[in-house]
Amino acid sequence: MLSFLRKTILPPRCLVCSGKDQVIQGVCSRCRSGIRPLPGPLCDICGKVIGTPGTCLQCQHRPPHFNKVLSACVYEGMIQDIIHRFKYRRATVYKKFLAGLVAERITADGAPFDFVTAVPLHWSRLIERGYNQSMLIARELSGYLGSDVRYGVLRKVRKTPSQVGLPRTDRQRNLRDAFSARGVEGKSVVVVDDVITTGKTAQEVSKALKNAGAAYVIFASVGRTVSW
Ligand SMILES: [Zn+2]
Ligand SMILES: [Zn+2]
Repeated sequence: MLSFLRKTILPPRCLVCSGKDQVIQGVCSRCRSGIRPLPGPLCDICGKVIGTPGTCLQCQHRPPHFNKVLSACVYEGMIQDIIHRFKYRRATVYKKFLAGLVAERITADGAPFDFVTAVPLHWSRLIERGYNQSMLIARELSGYLGSDVRYGVLRKVRKTPSQVGLPRTDRQRNLRDAFSARGVEGKSVVVVDDVITTGKTAQEVSKALKNAGAAYVIFASVGRTVSW
């Protein structure tokens, strides 16, 4: 009753700063204004920041397994803080806000797709954390986009140590064949991750999807570090 009254009478507060200014999906306009999209031009395949519009040299020489990478914003400052809380401190209250950012990016791009899914956690990590942060975003995202969300498509078949702090070559090796996929033959799939740092997860997950017959893979994330 009390919480009902609070919601009805009091204006919503920003989850980050407690401000009351134009709070949408839990975050106020001032906090939103600190979120920075990736500075273009971006490679039209891997989404990396490049000098001239088009496809980067790396994607031209060795086409990646994904068809397109779409990230909502630069992984820095407030958004880094929110994602960290969302992922490690059970602040799942941010899921609508984060999904909203990804939805805007996907809508602006306009590429068609069949359904949304997410980068999976190994079952032991899922038990430990209690939720898959990327799947929470994927579920909200599917609501915004009016599309299906599918849960059993990807599996992490091997437990891998955190990519953070590993040298570049070890990161690639670390994730090799760590994922498997099913039920995607001929489908265009959006896969959601919270952050792209090295791009190795995007590669390995997309490889599993393509090996299982996916026709087109859009790898979408909330944040992205500017250089990988
Ligand atoms: Zn705020
Ligand atoms: Zn590229």
